[in-house]
Amino acid sequence: MKIFCIARNYVEHVDELKMGRVPSAPVFFMKPDTALLRNNDPFYVPSFSREVHYECELVVRINRVGKCIAERFAHRYYDEVGLGIDFTARDVQRAAAEAGEPWEMAKAFDHSAAISPEFVKLSELGGDVQNLHFEMTLNGEVRQKACTSQMIFTVDRLISYISQFVTLKIGDLIYTGTPVGVGEVKEGDELTATLEGRKLLDFDIR
Ligand code: MG
Repeated sequence: MKIFCIARNYVEHVDELKMGRVPSAPVFFMKPDTALLRNNDPFYVPSFSREVHYECELVVRINRVGKCIAERFAHRYYDEVGLGIDFTARDVQRAAAEAGEPWEMAKAFDHSAAISPEFVKLSELGGDVQNLHFEMTLNGEVRQKACTSQMIFTVDRLISYISQFVTLKIGDLIYTGTPVGVGEVKEGDELTATLEGRKLLDFDIR
């Protein structure tokens, strides 16, 4: 399976990062399967970074094989969604970006892709992938709160776009981008996230 992540898909988050502008086409990158952090297991802050950020994102799981998928058919390629955290070594990413180099080290490291144990049928959530509310808390305090209606590129557009370049397979995951409010995690923090009021993520930072 493959993990796709979308960069800069919420306007206010683009503004807060000050790394690039609102894109005219989706920007995606990938993480290896070794990046997955499952079952609400604790996240261990890696020693190579002094500034690891959380990015809470809606995650779409692909359920059919497809290549060059037309946007109008893209909705047939998923029926479940979950939540994930795209952990980012922000200091490492910033240094790579400034040097004009790829930032895989900052994004693809082991356990950098937390994924909710549970995925929910879209039909149980009202059926509209662009009208889902999600919220992330750190130590009980709300840090990110968004609706997928705020995405710059819709899920269907993302699927259509990515599949022009890379064949999508069953089980592939798309992290659809983070809203405003990203920030640092520290040892001892507790991170939770809810999707339409359902708690899907709840784990410790160590
Ligand atoms: Mg992200």
